Formats: sequence, structure tokens, C-alpha cells
Amino acid sequence: MNKLAINGGNPVRSGLLGYGHQVIAQSDIEAVVQVLKSDYLTCGPATKEFENKLAQIVNAPYVTAVANGTAALHIACLAAGIRPGDEVVVSPITFAASANCVLYCGGVPVFADIDPITWNISPDSIRQKITEKTKAVIAVDFGGCPAALDDIRSICDKHGLILIEDAAHSLGSQYGGECVGSIADLTTFSFHPVKTVTTGEGGAVATSNAEFAQRVELFSKHGITRDKKLMTSKDDGDWYYEQLELGYNYRISDIQAALGISQLGRLPEFARRRREIVSYYNEEFAHIPHVSFQFDPAPESTVRHLYVLRFDTEALRTSRRFIFDALRCEGIGVNVHYLPVFRLPYYDQLGYDPNCCIEANLFYDQAITLPLHCSMSDSDARDVVGAVRKVVEWLMGEGADDDVR
Ligand SMILES: *Cc1c(COP(=O)(O)O)cnc(C)c1O
Repeated sequence: MNKLAINGGNPVRSGLLGYGHQVIAQSDIEAVVQVLKSDYLTCGPATKEFENKLAQIVNAPYVTAVANGTAALHIACLAAGIRPGDEVVVSPITFAASANCVLYCGGVPVFADIDPITWNISPDSIRQKITEKTKAVIAVDFGGCPAALDDIRSICDKHGLILIEDAAHSLGSQYGGECVGSIADLTTFSFHPVKTVTTGEGGAVATSNAEFAQRVELFSKHGITRDKKLMTSKDDGDWYYEQLELGYNYRISDIQAALGISQLGRLPEFARRRREIVSYYNEEFAHIPHVSFQFDPAPESTVRHLYVLRFDTEALRTSRRFIFDALRCEGIGVNVHYLPVFRLPYYDQLGYDPNCCIEANLFYDQAITLPLHCSMSDSDARDVVGAVRKVVEWLMGEGADDDVR
């Protein structure tokens, strides 16, 4: 009965439970259909409404919705004035886009190490990476837990740096009683289907700074404006517009925005369910030896996107690879977030030292992402815990002397 599925035993469940999945309600579908029947598929009222609703939720005066989270990061960097040669300190335990956006601007991502307990970028490491070329810090709220924003803010203030928060994981989270989106100079969100709220593809930039907001707006729409206050020469009639910057077409469509409006309405429900699963996991995993989970000082104000479990592979005398494969065989669609960005072949070829961040590398060797999403049932969550317990118990018992371990 305890024979692992990877060794020919019966799996905990049949069929693979994915690590992330969107939840689409009938009301979401109806909202999209309504836009399809309207006059505007893009640049219409739904986009404005989505931006306003998001602005309210994240408590930021200015929100621009864009095509995806990567576009949001790109224009946040452009708005921050990142130029060729500028250095930007970034967390390495993130999706590549958090650093790619710096490269898009000709800047240089500099990786600071993570904190071994919170798995977010370490303020001490940020301090060590600052040079006279440093222009900004990109803090990623890993898994949905806000980075140490107080400390990072004071580092940024001391050195005159712009703080960009990649909040792709943390929509709906709060830090020190403030909403994510109202804290950093520029905050970016993603609405990819695995994220807490989806628009299919989509993203947004939030800011409280009117000047940044204006630049975000400009760069997301070709650098073109019809705003008379911004134009350099006299208005030449109603048709007249000017291009002031080399911008991009990063617009979101009204079809996507309609889905977003509808999904945002269910954010409180999504947040509650995600917290419920996280707290169940934490309770259970606290009793399983040689595993540890992310330290979150304020779980009641966090909306988690990812649940990563760290396995003490040394004590279990195995590899992350074995545990990963064993859990997949048990029917648990585990994943890994993330290979440190500096170890991706593209970054390797740019000359990044694969050993530049010790904690990030240690984390990578032990991390496995478990399923966490709102289309999971309680019984799905029990299967996840059951499979982890089964694999760990086998490794500590029968499997302790097994060669295939
Ligand atoms: C998902 C994600 C992004 C990119 O978002 P897209 O909408 O897929 O472009 C950026 N940063 C992090 C940390 C993410 O998880």
C-alpha cells in the first residue's frame, strides 16, 4: 500500500492535479460575450472600467492595463528611466521577465541573493550589490508574500533608487496594512491564467506618481499622445496627435478587460479559498519531517499564488529530481519555481556567474511547487498532503537503502 507509484505501486490519485488553474464562471463568460456584441473590442469603456476597478482594489491613483505582465514590467522600467548601462538590482528566484525587462532597456540586471527564510530578495544582499550605476530595484513578491518593502524602501531612499515591485504573484496582498500596488514607485501585475485573477493574457502598472503614470500611459500606446498639455506644437485640428517617445502597442483589449472586471469581483472569494488551502498545507506539513514552507509573517493579509515546499534532500538522502518524479507519478502535478534567472542559458552566455547567489541555488535544489488554485477541492488538497507524506515516509523507511532513491 505504501509502495510508491514510481516503483510500480498504486498512485494516490488517478489523473494529474495541475499546480495552477483558472476558475471561469458563467458570469465571466457573459461579461466577455457582452463586449463582443458591443461597439468596442479594444480602447473602449471596459478597459477604463477595469483600470478603475483595479485602482480601487490596490489603492493606487493611477493604473494602466496592458497586454501582459511582461509588457507591464517593460514600461515600468521605461517610465523609471532605465537606460543603457544602468544597473537594476533584481531577485533571481523569479520568472525571467523580471530581469528581461531591464535588458529590453539596455540596462544590466544585477542579482541580489534571497533570504533563506522568506525566499524573497534579501535587503542585506541588495545593499552589497549597489554601485554608482544602480538606478532601481525590482522586488518580486515571491509566491504572493510581499518582499521586505520597508527595508527595501529605505535602501532606495538612501541611494536615490526607484523601487519597482513585480507583484505578478501578489494581487490582493497587503504589507504593513497597505495594499500591494500602493507601496512601490511602480507596481506591476500579471493576469496570466495561472495567476490569482486572469484576463487570458494581461497585465497592469499601478503608481501613485503622476509623472510615472503619464510615461507608463505614453509608452504603452506607441509613445503617441493627444494630450494638449504634452504636445510640443500647436494643435492642428481634431485629428492631430504627436509621438513623443518610441513606445509600443501594449494595449489590452476590451474583451480581456471584461473578463478582468468580472474576475476582480471574485478576488475576495479567490483570496479566502487560497488562504484556506495554504493554512491547511502549513498545518499538515508542520508535522512532516524534513520539509519546510515559506515564512510569512502576516498570512492573514497575504493572497498566495504559489505554494512551494522545500525538501531537505540531504537529510532524506535523495535529490529534488527523485521527489519531483515520485510526486508526479502519484498524480500530483508539481512544478518548480524557479531556476535562478542567472543560470538560464541566455544569462549564462551574457557572462553571469552561476554561483553568484548561494541561497538562491540552495533553494532551487530543494524546491517543489505544489498545486494551489481555486478549482481544487478539499479532497484534492488532501491528496497533495497524502502524496508528500507517502514519499517522505518511504524515503525515511523502506526506501532509505533503496538504490533508485
Ligand atoms: C507571470 C509572471 C510575470 C510575467 O507575466 P506575463 O503576464 O506572463 O507576461 C512576471 N513576473 C513574475 C514573477 C511572474 O510570475
